[in-house]
Amino acid sequence: MERFQALLATKTDAGQSIAWQELAGTELMDGDVTIRVSHSTINYKDGLAITGRSPVIRRWPMIPGIDLAGRVLSSSHADFAAGQEVILNGWGIGETHFGGYAQVARVKGDWLIDKPAALSPAETMAIGTAGYTAMLSVIALERGGVTPDRGAVLVTGAAGGVGSIAIALLSRLGYHVIASSGRTNESAFLKGLGAREVIDRKELSAPGRPLGKERWAGAIDTVGSHTLANALAMTKYGGTVAACGLAQGMDLPTSVAPFILRGVTLAGIDSVMAPRPMRIAAWARLARDLDKEKLNSLSTTRPARDVVAMAPEILAGRVRGRVVLELG
Ligand code: NDP
Repeated sequence: MERFQALLATKTDAGQSIAWQELAGTELMDGDVTIRVSHSTINYKDGLAITGRSPVIRRWPMIPGIDLAGRVLSSSHADFAAGQEVILNGWGIGETHFGGYAQVARVKGDWLIDKPAALSPAETMAIGTAGYTAMLSVIALERGGVTPDRGAVLVTGAAGGVGSIAIALLSRLGYHVIASSGRTNESAFLKGLGAREVIDRKELSAPGRPLGKERWAGAIDTVGSHTLANALAMTKYGGTVAACGLAQGMDLPTSVAPFILRGVTLAGIDSVMAPRPMRIAAWARLARDLDKEKLNSLSTTRPARDVVAMAPEILAGRVRGRVVLELG
């Protein structure tokens, strides 16, 4: 195999450093499927990994990137053959196994799923872990019985990756979406995705009361901390809140009141270790339920080399929607 470009993060006593380098196939980690990676993306977690702000990387050196899309170069796995188009989200790539910021990846076939036929490789990465997590969250609301006639659905961190795709999905499914964002100057963008109301995230980010006015039947929260506590406190009787993120904080300063007085359900969402059938179901729903024009309107395309400069930007909440990275 020819040598290829990869972003390698290394750690020494002097700290973490990161640079694009040329690698050989023999330097990749073990796996039964080797992939020519065409596209990846940047998620909040990738921003944490690249900057070293949180200990996302747990094995050194590491190629970050928790998502990839590409074509199989060679495989000894029964389900995959050379030429097949595949995608991979999570399972520890970019954390404990070399990830998506490389032109070639070698991974476990059990982690892969077939690229949905209705989506291009670039579109799968415009969706990425963020969009797939948004879909898992929507499915959790549906399982909780949150239907459009039950009331509005709140989406927090609305202008971010998970948030913007959640809005597009929910509006397509007929929900009245209330978008909570710190970027109220992005109201037109959020309404274009299908939000019916945009509220300032300050309304939710400060310590609140154990119970508040019942405002929504469900919520998708990407923010955690007081925001999640307030989302729970304002959820209607019998509603469901899907918690998937921690952009405000890891803490959850709430009380049992929403659960024992209003029968509210808090549904936890994990995309990384989600079992394969759940992934396949979520991707089938994304292929069916996500409006492609909206996906285009919320995503931009950049060369993969830009990812290091973008990492602090995504952590600062300055990246709008989703970014597709081309590996070239
Ligand atoms: P983004 O950075 O794209 O979006 C996060 C958004 O949160 C920002 O755009 C901003 O939205 C809002 N935000 C940022 N900082 C704060 C703050 N201090 N207080 C309140 N709101 C804030 O990230 P992603 O969409 O990629 O990920 C969102 C979250 O979901 C992250 O915490 C990530 O770790 C988590 N996640 C979890 C997964 C799982 O498996 N459970 C999978 C994928 C993501 P705005 O400007 O609109 O206010």
